[in-house]
Amino acid sequence: MAESLEFDLTLYPSPVLRKVASPIEAFDDEVKGIVAGMFERMYESSGVGLAAPQVGLKLRILVYNETGDPEQKDKEVVLINPVITSRTGDTTHYDEGCLSFPGIYAEIARPDACTVEAQDADGQPVKLELSGFESRIVQHEHDHLEGILLVDRMSAGDKLRNKGALEELVERYKAEKG
Ligand SMILES: [Zn+2]
Repeated sequence: MAESLEFDLTLYPSPVLRKVASPIEAFDDEVKGIVAGMFERMYESSGVGLAAPQVGLKLRILVYNETGDPEQKDKEVVLINPVITSRTGDTTHYDEGCLSFPGIYAEIARPDACTVEAQDADGQPVKLELSGFESRIVQHEHDHLEGILLVDRMSAGDKLRNKGALEELVERYKAEKG
């Protein structure tokens, strides 16, 4: 059993959130430790999904549990080097949040269904055909691996509504950077 790593959340506008993440090539204990640490951070932050850049790692790893319940281990999904091979279905709108944007929500339009091909933590191929909430989580987290953020997908109205909260995050980041 790999030792779980401890992570803090990386918040907007940290530059790592804007990088295109790099593929995982070795499926070793380090990757398993990262995955375990990401799940811990996600649950502690009451999230349902997390991408590696959100814990400061420029790596193509995402994890999710649509229930957000740490007791429901069978709902945990690990997608490494995920590729969304199709996006289908009607466009749906949903009030999305993001652990890198605490307190900010915006109605984001996405296609209802998607197919994702990836590898699991052992490097075994995974193919999932998703719709509804799970599909939305995967599309949101996959955006993170491309450096695409909630703020890029929100409407002008939502951006205006969240202007103060966004500016606060920028100020907080500047203050922490010194
Ligand atoms: Zn997010």
